[in-house]
Amino acid sequence: MAVCIFCKFVRNEVSCHKIFESDNTLAFLDINPYAKGHTIIIPKIHGEIIFDLPEEQIKELMVDVRKVMQRIQEVLNPDGFNVGWNHNTAGGQVVPHLHIHIFPRYNRDGGGSMHSIVNNSGKMSVDEVMSLFRQNFSAALD
Ligand code: 5GP
Ligand code: ZN
Repeated sequence: MAVCIFCKFVRNEVSCHKIFESDNTLAFLDINPYAKGHTIIIPKIHGEIIFDLPEEQIKELMVDVRKVMQRIQEVLNPDGFNVGWNHNTAGGQVVPHLHIHIFPRYNRDGGGSMHSIVNNSGKMSVDEVMSLFRQNFSAALD
């Protein structure tokens, strides 16, 4: 199977604009930025989605998200951030290696919030959706 582009960055087979590296994570500037300083942070081990990775890797990834945000704050001094990831094609994922987007935000940059990603709650009420959780996790929710 072909090696994914982000694994090639980890292996130094393809260059990227690396802004942070630790034992298990790598962060680099997005080649097609949607904001000044738009950054991608990845776990070095390959996994397509968050469910594919061990919990310890995810913990370390989140700690490093904070470190990268601090680094961006120092260098670019943004007024805010949006941080998140696209999960599976339904969620807009294109590169099949878990990656978290860090979008620095600037006052009056014209962007929206997380709420602008989708607005289609479907026909079920919140109570009906809750009842599905109760059916599956009743003990934990009592
Ligand atoms: P996704 O939609 O999978 O969450 O986003 C993938 C991101 O990876 C996109 O924002 C895209 O610009 C970025 N990307 C894809 N290929 C490359 C590349 O070769 N280098 C860099 N730096 N970013 C890439
Ligand atoms: Zn990969």
